[in-house]
Amino acid sequence: MRILLTNDDGIQAVGLRALYKALVAEGHEVHVVAPITEQSAVGHAITLSAPLRVKEFREENFFGLGVSGTPADCVKLAISTLLKDAPELVVSGINAGANVGVDIMYSGTVSAATEGALMGFPALAVSMDNHNPEELSGQAGYAAGLLPRLPIAALPKKCVLNLNFPDRPVDQAAGFKVCPHTRVAYTDWYEERTDPRGRKYYWMCGEIKHEKISPGRDRLLLTQGYITLTPLRFDFTDHDTLALLDQLDS
Ligand code: MN
Repeated sequence: MRILLTNDDGIQAVGLRALYKALVAEGHEVHVVAPITEQSAVGHAITLSAPLRVKEFREENFFGLGVSGTPADCVKLAISTLLKDAPELVVSGINAGANVGVDIMYSGTVSAATEGALMGFPALAVSMDNHNPEELSGQAGYAAGLLPRLPIAALPKKCVLNLNFPDRPVDQAAGFKVCPHTRVAYTDWYEERTDPRGRKYYWMCGEIKHEKISPGRDRLLLTQGYITLTPLRFDFTDHDTLALLDQLDS
């Protein structure tokens, strides 16, 4: 398959490099267009008021294009301009850190896949429930091996598949579950710190409270050691409330 590979951790991230190697080993034609610098949690931002620069990363056993923009910029620029032929699949990751529940709204990784989906291509986001992974070849191999099993041609338009790996070696995973995403939001707080020149600054911290997590959804299943796969769609219309408000326009 011709695959566009991107991420939000940057073109030199462990997860992207592992996935590149695994996809190439499976015989795929892999085109990397990824942010030059880390773009975690930039969401679906696109660059409107600055130029996008493209830099070649030509290394032994790796070639990719780095873009001075966001993950969504990378996908837009790649498909519209940089790639000679359209991809058959857009893959984003492997992200350092899970993308479950509301992470989908903040995640550059998922947003890159979403951009691919919105442009009409099948899309897969891949994340790992660890913010400092050192080695992801097992997860990358699993993701590459999963591709032929996915019903890509049968997926509805604008569907994103969101794959998450638990924080353990992939051969020690409890299993594989297709599940909905958790709906619990993070409880956030800000650490107040002082910089070397005596000025205050703030650093966001947050967690999904364990007692609020519902069973059978991605967050809890990941914690229990399962690999999770959630199909996402981006019709934000609340159909129940649409009926409630229906009388307003009559
Ligand atoms: Mn990231």
